[in-house]
Amino acid sequence: MLIVLALSYLAASICFIVGIKWMNHPATARTGNRLSALGMTLAVVITMLNLAVAQQDLVKDASVLWSPQTRWALVLGGLVLGTVIGGVMAKTVKMTDMPQAVAIFNGLGGGAAAAVSVAGKVAPTPGAHGEEMLWSIVLGTIIGSITFAGSLIAFGKLQGLISGKPVTFPGMRLFNNLLILVTLGLGVWVMVLGHDPIGDKVFILTLVLANLFGIMLVLPIGGADMPVVISLLNSFTGTAAAITGFVLQNNVLIIAGALVGASGFILTMLMCKAMNRNLWNVMFVDFGGGGGSAGTIEGSQQETSAEDVAVMLAYASRVIIVPGYGLAVAQAQHAVQEMAVLLEKRGVSVKYAIHPVAGRMPGHMNVLLAEANVPYSLLYDMEDINSEFEQADVALVIGANDVTNPAARTDTSSPIYGMPILDVDKAKNIVVVKRGKGTGYAGIENLLYYNPKCKMLFADAKAAVSSLIAEVQHV
Ligand code: NDP
Repeated sequence: MLIVLALSYLAASICFIVGIKWMNHPATARTGNRLSALGMTLAVVITMLNLAVAQQDLVKDASVLWSPQTRWALVLGGLVLGTVIGGVMAKTVKMTDMPQAVAIFNGLGGGAAAAVSVAGKVAPTPGAHGEEMLWSIVLGTIIGSITFAGSLIAFGKLQGLISGKPVTFPGMRLFNNLLILVTLGLGVWVMVLGHDPIGDKVFILTLVLANLFGIMLVLPIGGADMPVVISLLNSFTGTAAAITGFVLQNNVLIIAGALVGASGFILTMLMCKAMNRNLWNVMFVDFGGGGGSAGTIEGSQQETSAEDVAVMLAYASRVIIVPGYGLAVAQAQHAVQEMAVLLEKRGVSVKYAIHPVAGRMPGHMNVLLAEANVPYSLLYDMEDINSEFEQADVALVIGANDVTNPAARTDTSSPIYGMPILDVDKAKNIVVVKRGKGTGYAGIENLLYYNPKCKMLFADAKAAVSSLIAEVQHV
């Protein structure tokens, strides 16, 4: 059995690694996802078979509490329940609610890792968890608990169940720093004390403080820093799972956890770079985010009509479409694709400019446009398209706001100062489609809208693009 187990885990791990590699490109992402799911199915099935073999030994062990039937009922019950809940959530969650969904999945992953670690401490399986495993039990408990409690707070904030604004009090930074030091200190003490009654009490205190730290870590974070935190918590989930793999002595869990931990951390760093944020500052120094200076605004916004914009687009040579969160809310991707095809038939070159944090999750715009069969070759990353705005006859901004705000370049007091933006203001003509004068995620006014070259088409993105399609057909 051992050799079958090892080889199956190896095959599952290869599926995960190749799957992640394929997820790197939109053309292969779906296959990569399926391959990873296949790897996970293999890992689950082989673990169940291994459990069946192990049960035969446990039956003979008088210290084991539950009968094999009860254990199987629990495992299979959990499997069915998890599959149904996960399947329904994946099918029904709106793409704009993905950050919340990721937050709750992270929380459950961290909570599961913490639960397994706690079980390893309070009810060690005979022969499996000697003193030498205490380090993984303690670390799994601390990281899993921080992830669990922090993710629940993140979910509550994003779902609007608790205030999305930073929640702080004087001296909170110092309190948090002391809290994590005390938690880690107690964890070390548990390892020194080992499996003894005092060690058990200190362990419970460590568990409580780690959960408290998870709450205190996320409460003071708000606004545009939330996605960074979600991504970091995702990385914590992977790390906690990998450590739990040591507790359970399960190689595939160690590998899968390490992959999630590493990829989550890389994503966190990429997001920090895209927003010009420093991870240390986000977590421990600059509590806040959301709201802030509007900068000095001169002039007024100029309104336009679908008719005028259609003429501008139909006679343009180069059009760059800038999609943002509002396009996702309006589900205007299919209409946008239809309009682009219409323009291309008239000989207009149409490209899409994709900002790394446009929308509400990394890759949001790529996924949205891929769903509408927009060719990948027309999607351009920010660094590739920025030099082309100067030659563009029209930059058509649809439901994007913060990622086009020139205040990020010029206004040092702006909360998005330093964030690389799409150079929309350099285009010959700018058209912005949005419903009204609402701000974007960062909660600040956009200087672009007061640029003399900029015209505002106030409407829901889908309705606006549908009118543009109708009007272009008549030009
Ligand atoms: P923004 O959130 O800055 O702006 C979206 C704009 O869309 C709003 O100004 C809103 O204006 C408009 N809008 C909303 N609904 C509609 C609709 N139905 N039709 C037309 N317009 C609509 O979006 P961006 O994509 O520019 O920027 C993303 C922001 O989100 C950044 O600040 C980023 O840091 C942050 N973020 C990014 C994440 C990521 O990983 N991608 C995750 C979480 C946050 P109005 O109300 O007037 O219509």
